[in-house]
Amino acid sequence: MPAETVSGPGPARYRLWIDEECIGVAQCVLTDPDLFALDNAGYGKVLVAEIGPEKLPAARTAVGNCPLGAVHLDEVE
Ligand code: SF4
Repeated sequence: MPAETVSGPGPARYRLWIDEECIGVAQCVLTDPDLFALDNAGYGKVLVAEIGPEKLPAARTAVGNCPLGAVHLDEVE
């Protein structure tokens, strides 16, 4: 019996990351505490490095809300 094949690409995935410009304002954490937290030094960190479409609106809001432009979202190939 042949293996079941998946037709077409699955839903897009996105990589969420914070760069070294972060100063720990925590807007990202306020936007979605499921996606962001502050580390022990008080800087933002992502809790979920790769997200699906369901978290895309919150991730985009966090990108827009960071006053340093330190939150980034890249579509995973
Ligand atoms: S990534 Fe931006 S919003 Fe999040 S803690 Fe850092 S400076 Fe603040």
